[in-house]
Parts: sequence; C-alpha cells; structure tokens
Amino acid sequence: MTVSNPRIFCIGRNYVKHIEELENEVPGRPVIFMKPYSSLLPQGNKIVIPSHGAELHHEAELVLKIGKAGRAKTDIGALAMIEAYTLGIDLTLRDVQKQLKEKGLPWEIAKSFPGSAPIGEFVTYRNGTTDLGDLKFSLNVNGVNRQNGDTALMLFPVAGIIIYLSGIWELQEGDLIYTGTPAGVAQLKSGDRVELTGDGVGPFSWDVE
Ligand code: ZN
Repeated sequence: MTVSNPRIFCIGRNYVKHIEELENEVPGRPVIFMKPYSSLLPQGNKIVIPSHGAELHHEAELVLKIGKAGRAKTDIGALAMIEAYTLGIDLTLRDVQKQLKEKGLPWEIAKSFPGSAPIGEFVTYRNGTTDLGDLKFSLNVNGVNRQNGDTALMLFPVAGIIIYLSGIWELQEGDLIYTGTPAGVAQLKSGDRVELTGDGVGPFSWDVE
C-alpha cells in the first residue's frame, strides 16, 4: 500500500463511569471519531479556549502510535502493530457537543478544532514487557486531581480497538489512537495548568491561555 498522511482516531465512551457521568448509553461497539493531525498540541504550546464555545473540558487518555501498517485479526497481531504510547488530552467543547448531540449532528467543531489534541512524548512500546491492559494514569489541574484512569477498566481494550479500527481503515505507520477517557472530565479555565502522568509515562503539562 502507499503511505499517505497519518490520522488520529479517537474512541468515545470507553469507560463505564465516564459514560454514566455524561448520561450516555453503553455502546455495543466502539464509538469512533477523528481529529486532523494538525490538531496535535505538543508540550510548550498553550491550550487556547476556542471562541465558538464556552465550556472546554479535559479528557485524559492513553494514546497509541501505530508502527506497523495493516489489519489485525488477533490480539497478538494487534499488539504487534503498536510502536509507542503516551498520554494525551481529547479537548472537547462540551456545551457545543451537547447541542450537536441533541440534534444528531457530527461533533467536529466540538472535538476537532485547532489545538484540540494535546500530546505527550512517546514511550517505546515493548510487547511482552509493557502491559497496556493495566496502565494507570491521572490528570491534575493546578495540582488538584481531576481524573484517574486504569486501562484495565476499558470497555474495549487496546487490542480490540485496533482490531475494530483496522477492519474499517487499513492502519498506517504514524496513525494515532486516543483510546477514551475515564470519569472526572471537567472545565478548563484561562490560567489553569494541566498535568498528565501515568505508569512509566509523563509527567506532561500545558498552560491554558
Ligand atoms: Zn475522549
């Protein structure tokens, strides 16, 4: 296959307690949406609250980087496609998303605006050594804990996500997957400092302009 531009896939509703806090239904298969690659926001850049919404929420997530292109049919095959992992934030304009959901409209302007994907530095994934099925991570704002994640509580675990996604899109080298957020999503305000850290990854931080 020809290599083209990598993509960012995002999984919605992957932790039961987060589904409950937003009063959503537990999905029978992964909920997928995408962000443009240009929305990535590495450390050193400020989070900017977009002017087309008011309530900017943080969603702390484990992020996977695909290193081997293709389609996976087994858990072993899926894990072999992962090159690296890190933590990221799926920034969401919750007020805008709520309006769109009520009308059954697509989420892009709530989820895929410029700078909507803060991303930490990647850690090499060592299959057999790193257990992505048991990785704990947390998000603090101004030193106060807001979110605690444990990938053991994912509705659709890492390998299952890759199998599902690659059954639709043949995955490419460089593709990223934001794997969903645990409970505790909340609003960011101007002047906040957001910190993400997890087992063997981080800490990473961003300031909100
Ligand atoms: Zn999310």
